Amino acid sequence: MMTKTYDVIVIGAGPGGYVAAIRCAQLGLKTVCVDEWLNHKGESSLGGTCLNVGCIPSKALLESSHLYQQAKVDFEQHGISVSSLKINMETMQARKDQVVGDLTQGIQALLKANKVELIHGRAKITANDAVKVLNRTTRKIHKKIKAKNIIIATGSSPVRLQQAMLEENYILDSAAALELDVVPKRLGIVGAGAIGLELGSVWSRLGSQVVLLEAMPNFLPMVDSKLASLAKRSYAKQSLDIRLNARLISAKVKGKKVHVIYEDEKGEQKESFDKLIIAVGRKPNSDRIFGEELGIEKDERCFIMVDDSCQTSVPGIYAIGDVVRGPMLAHKASEEGVMVAEHIAGMHTELNYDSIPSVIYTHPELSWVGKTEDECKTAGLKYKVGSFPIAANGRARAMAETEGLVKIIADAETDRVLGVHIFSAQASELIAQAVLMMEMQATSEDMALTIFAHPTLAESVHEAALAVNGRAVHIKN
Ligand code: FAD
Ligand code: NAD
Repeated sequence: MMTKTYDVIVIGAGPGGYVAAIRCAQLGLKTVCVDEWLNHKGESSLGGTCLNVGCIPSKALLESSHLYQQAKVDFEQHGISVSSLKINMETMQARKDQVVGDLTQGIQALLKANKVELIHGRAKITANDAVKVLNRTTRKIHKKIKAKNIIIATGSSPVRLQQAMLEENYILDSAAALELDVVPKRLGIVGAGAIGLELGSVWSRLGSQVVLLEAMPNFLPMVDSKLASLAKRSYAKQSLDIRLNARLISAKVKGKKVHVIYEDEKGEQKESFDKLIIAVGRKPNSDRIFGEELGIEKDERCFIMVDDSCQTSVPGIYAIGDVVRGPMLAHKASEEGVMVAEHIAGMHTELNYDSIPSVIYTHPELSWVGKTEDECKTAGLKYKVGSFPIAANGRARAMAETEGLVKIIADAETDRVLGVHIFSAQASELIAQAVLMMEMQATSEDMALTIFAHPTLAESVHEAALAVNGRAVHIKN
């Protein structure tokens, strides 16, 4: 078998891998990308978790279910009445599949346009400059390739629970939970993190009674506690029944139901559901890609260890995205991909991990960047806080989207913005300006001196910045 040589081999075509491959090619590096993903039709499909079973299909269903919810509940206050409102799950799912199909094919076209070669199959690194590609079904080697640089972008997979093994149609992972063709009457979700809340929102809006069983005593510990408690209250009003301190003991399928036993502070509890989704985190795909003899080090949670440039313990081998430390987010994976490509091309690179935005796409949405107030306290920082309730924003009133709050934390002495936290409609869009401000090391005064268009939800961010120094106009400071 002939061995073809490249400048860079990228393993994985998720948002980390495909972006890294495109940037490498833009920089004149001869690049090949190997990916093994097969969609539910058994066809090769690029884009990894994010496009196939993650960010994109979940947002497509969040959008459809939000529109349904609005038509059912919110239109009335606008004087719009709807009769015989119905859900056609087949159409809703087909639209989602179309969105995914268009985008995954778009990536294929982008790779081709950038002259990135694509190989379908499972890659295994055999030496620090060599990779073999196996046919996913026959497991036979169908390609041998070589390169001075290898980028591992193999992503992550859902964590499984011993006490609730997956069972077709009943106990589902997040990918299967995006494929339901009937709205379950009673839906249990183990884990009230990003996936649990987003999928819980989808199915609850479409009519499921949703119960979320969360092992931790705190709700969304990574979110600023003020906003987490506002969000929890809001989700409860939306009939998301979030039970904290709920430790799962067992889940068994019997008589077409999933019977769950869990324990909370009051003792053992029983529940039964039509479906149960397991959403308790994801683990890095770091096994089966290389043998121990290569010396690529992993940490105790199996994340591949990397330095600031995402280089592993073996020079020339890099790792990015969900398979390495840091938040498991698509935009973080992509930015690491760009950084590594530029590092390989000999450019100066840097990635500011302090200004990576996070979003939970419930309604209202939760978004944040930088430090929470608790993190500032723990770090012993002196800080000041400005908050602005969305209810005092004119555009929010016009939209009938008055729920939420913007909170800005700034350093007490330098006034530099340390963190921005938003719970509001379109918070995912509003956070972008805050990220930019943080990236430019702006002060709350810089934000306060900036002119925002009226009437916009973004004016709430302006007002919160004014409030940091007791100058908000549309609330009593
Ligand atoms: P992945 O996207 O997982 O891609 C890895 C690719 O590598 C896959 O195609 C895989 O088949 C391939 N691969 C693995 N091993 C091999 C091998 N040996 N040989 C060849 N190919 C291999 N993040 C956000 O930022 N925003 C969101 O809204 C969001 N929503 C999400 C919703 C859900 C339901 C889920 C599950 C995740 C969501 N995420 C979201 C997380 C996001 O999907 C991940 O952070 C992102 O996909 C990570 O990108 P990656 O490139 O590191 O890995
Ligand atoms: P997560 O870490 O966000 O939440 C998992 C939750 O499950 C946690 O609250 C955890 O305490 C709980 N848990 C763990 N074990 C449990 C058990 N045995 N019983 C009950 N609860 C248990 O993970 P996720 O929601 O599975 O999402 C995985 C990753 O995907 C996350 O890292 C997230 O960043 C990413 N993601 C991002 C988005 C987004 O950006 N909007 C959306 C979905 C997923």
